[in-house]
Amino acid sequence: GSTTDSDVVKRESESMKKTLRSSAEKFEFQAEVSRLMDIIINSLYSNKDIFLRELISNASDALDKIRFLSLTDKEVLGEGDTAKLEIQIKLDKDKKILAIRDKGIGMTKEDLIKNLGTIAKSGTSAFVEKMQTSGDLNLIGQFGVGFYSVYLVADYVEVISKHNDDKQYVWESKADGAFAISEDTWNEPLGRGTEIRLHLREEAGEYLEESKLKDLVKRYSEFINFPINLWATKE
Ligand code: ADP
Ligand code: MG
Repeated sequence: GSTTDSDVVKRESESMKKTLRSSAEKFEFQAEVSRLMDIIINSLYSNKDIFLRELISNASDALDKIRFLSLTDKEVLGEGDTAKLEIQIKLDKDKKILAIRDKGIGMTKEDLIKNLGTIAKSGTSAFVEKMQTSGDLNLIGQFGVGFYSVYLVADYVEVISKHNDDKQYVWESKADGAFAISEDTWNEPLGRGTEIRLHLREEAGEYLEESKLKDLVKRYSEFINFPINLWATKE
């Protein structure tokens, strides 16, 4: 279903953000994915920085995909700003949001449902099993479930995405077994690509510091073939 303006306005209050958008279509995570998220949310793993490596890696993969398609069909790139193959990281200190945006291939509604929750990859249970013995969370990317590392630092995540073949959608979850999808009628149009918005946990405030983010971007961008720009907004 679509989200009404009043729904968006109401959500400005903190208490409303404790529940997902009421008008959204709800889905349950596949059981193994849910277990994985539980492990991450409750993890005492101290090297939480790795979430940014996973997000940059996913953004880069998405940019590679659209660049590859553009070799045989230039039209897929679109025009103006949308055609720039880049990654942006934005810090909103007031709202405690870290957002990473790419102008990559984007995800259709079906992609969001399948890739972020309902179809568990073979690596999911392997990683869950590993984590229950002596596994190192740092290896999460090698098991093909790196995205979920966002819950090391965030307790609420929104994924806004626009694929050339579909409208713009918002995926959202508080890692409590469910996620929701809405057609995006309120955010700025992305043109094409994906924005991941991390609503940071209280104890993850360091990820709103520009110096910290600059260091991390420097560390993780070494093998990334696209420009990464960092913005800080103080509204
Ligand atoms: P992996 O990158 O190993 O496939 P992840 O857990 O990091 O596993 O991501 C899961 C899937 O979600 C990806 O395979 C991709 O289909 C989708 N995805 C994640 N981030 C993005 C993004 N920024 N743009 C497009 N698709 C994405
Ligand atoms: Mg990945």
